Amino acid sequence: MQPQGEAIRHRVEMPPAKLKPGDHVHAAVDAPRRRAVARHHSATHLLHRALRDVLGEGAVQAGSSVQPDYATFDFRFPRALTAEEVDRVSALLNEKIRANLVRRVEELPLEEAIATGAVALFDEKYGERVRVVSFGDWARELCGGTHVERSGEIGIALISTDRSIGAGVRRIEMRVGAAAEQQIRNAERVLRELGDILRTAPSELPARVVALQTEVKRLEKDAANLRQRLAAGGSAQLEEAEVDGVRLILQRVDDQEKDLLPYADQVLNRANGNGVAIVIAGRNFAFKVASPLADRLPANDLIQAFRKVAGGKGGGRGQVGQGGGIDPNRVDDAFKSVQDFVRKQLKPPPRPSPASGGGGNP
Ligand SMILES: [Zn+2]
Repeated sequence: MQPQGEAIRHRVEMPPAKLKPGDHVHAAVDAPRRRAVARHHSATHLLHRALRDVLGEGAVQAGSSVQPDYATFDFRFPRALTAEEVDRVSALLNEKIRANLVRRVEELPLEEAIATGAVALFDEKYGERVRVVSFGDWARELCGGTHVERSGEIGIALISTDRSIGAGVRRIEMRVGAAAEQQIRNAERVLRELGDILRTAPSELPARVVALQTEVKRLEKDAANLRQRLAAGGSAQLEEAEVDGVRLILQRVDDQEKDLLPYADQVLNRANGNGVAIVIAGRNFAFKVASPLADRLPANDLIQAFRKVAGGKGGGRGQVGQGGGIDPNRVDDAFKSVQDFVRKQLKPPPRPSPASGGGGNP
């Protein structure tokens, strides 16, 4: 059949092989979906009018997307809206929804329609006769779309703050009807959960969060101070002595479980590999002697000098040795005992004195 006058075209999703010319098909409208789309579409007309009432006639529609569960509305405006402007637009929009304005549809010649104040979009192409959709005597636009019969069917409209989507173009997102109800319920649930977590009434949440942020900042500062004090205390955990050119380093560490010999290696490295390293962890200890000194200062002899004061068990062989069971409170004295031993050990042998020697002078 040849189309008569203006044809209506339907787009369908189906494999091409399934549909042949001459097939009869039945098109049905998804009524709930269409009603939800109509609510959002009518709401964009009311939003358009509300924006122009609040911001001036320059706030002209630049595009929109109407879906069953949300709509976006783009309009020309040179700057971001203030919070107060958004509030005024929202209040006016919802006031006109509650006013339950009757929708009217007229078909008029284009010029007549424009003359009666219907809003036309400059970048749209219109035919000779146009369809004009009005809500009460308030919002009047050229439009071919689907609409509610009375604005009250929209229920409620929630609009977002606007954002820029290009030079001089702003976008507002909007939910109406059941989608708006869902958004409110979701927001309420989040507030209730936050209230439960923070144990406070939803209206007190902002103050509670600010108080928590202040608390976190204070704790962070405390933690930084403690870390600094620990670092300073950490170096006090290190004792050093020098006896006849030999460096003795005693390092206390926290680690109770690990093998202490690797620590002793590290400490000896700090002494440039020349000296004696002693590592204490609680009641355990390890010794390491630099290799050039090991002949004169065997680790085992040093350990025995140490244990004479600190107690415990253990011994060594060559450069290294370790043990445990010492009295941690006696470590300082035991360290002195090691220093005395080293001093004695490195003292040059006494010259034979003439009085005690039997040799006499030549
Ligand atoms: Zn429209």
